[in-house]
Amino acid sequence: MKRILVTGGAGFLGSHLCDRLLKEGHEVISVDNYFTGSRSNVVHLLENPYFELIRHDVTVPYYAEIDEIYNLACPASPIHYQFNPIKTIKTSVMGAINMLGLAKRVKAKIFQASTSEVYGDPDVHPQPESYWGNVNPIGDRACYNEGKRCAETIFMNYHIQNGVNIRIARIFNTYGPRMDPNDGRVVSNFIIQALQGRDITIFGDGSQTRSFQYVDDLIEGMIRVMEAPDHINSPINLGNPDEFTILDLAKKILEMTGSKSELTYYPLPSDDPMQRKPDITLAQKELKWRPEVSLEKGLTETIEYFKKLLKV
Ligand code: NAD
Ligand code: UDP
Repeated sequence: MKRILVTGGAGFLGSHLCDRLLKEGHEVISVDNYFTGSRSNVVHLLENPYFELIRHDVTVPYYAEIDEIYNLACPASPIHYQFNPIKTIKTSVMGAINMLGLAKRVKAKIFQASTSEVYGDPDVHPQPESYWGNVNPIGDRACYNEGKRCAETIFMNYHIQNGVNIRIARIFNTYGPRMDPNDGRVVSNFIIQALQGRDITIFGDGSQTRSFQYVDDLIEGMIRVMEAPDHINSPINLGNPDEFTILDLAKKILEMTGSKSELTYYPLPSDDPMQRKPDITLAQKELKWRPEVSLEKGLTETIEYFKKLLKV
């Protein structure tokens, strides 16, 4: 049994990770400031004596005797991370420094939730880990993209300079139950709009692509990254290589919900990547991991979740 700290533990991904780690018999401490997460995501865990829920902001140092850290604290949807860009950068950068300092002091292994956004609007397709990216350093997404890129740099340097045992996963678009209905991400937006009979909001002409990963596949990948042999400490992509246009996604969700919602078109936000698809050769080779849940199956679970949440 390990004592494991999960920052951002009350968020979408963090709460699923806490579930999984507790199920495996570990003690879990969730640290969260509830900016985008919520106690309701972990309310079912509050009676568990091995779960501890702490209100804390990772831009401030935190002390605890722990064996492992999963560093997930950071708003992840464009609406939320652009709400207060300076705070987003502080969370990524100061959060990384504070958690790495803790890992160094207590000799804990530490995992960083990085992102496919480090590749920006990629001109290499699909994206392997060796690609350095195409990021606008002063654009609307920069607070998140550059914050996450800087966090990767800090992680590598704590490893090289101080011998901290680090793991970095570059996570591609992930969806599933407990996504925040108000965070504006495409899967939750389209499902909610379809279920409520409202217009489906396509940004641009809908030809931009994304590769959607179901949350259970990601959590399995994250655990495998953490448990991989110690020499595997450079970034690893975790994503589903099945690529869809945004228009394909809208049509699929309309079909699966039986909705009569109309498609409506809005301008594409600035710096919105035109394509994104992970090259997962490294994860397949080193972790024996690949996603197992099809878009159809994952959407079925997610639609069921939102039907209950919205009572429709
Ligand atoms: P989320 O917004 O649901 O979760 C983030 C959590 O971090 C929330 O609970 C929030 O309250 C907390 N948080 C934010 N700032 C904090 C701070 N300063 N101190 C303490 N807690 C803070 O988002 P998510 O989708 O669960 O993403 C979790 C992590 O995974 C993020 O780091 C994100 O960048 C990364 N990621 C997610 C995706 C995805 O598709 N969901 C893709 C790539 C990377
Ligand atoms: N998108 C859309 N309609 C929406 C929300 C998003 O067309 O209501 C588009 C968005 O412009 C982007 C893609 O869907 O091209 C994925 O957006 P999301 O915010 O989910 O993730 P990210 O852009 O960070 O990959």
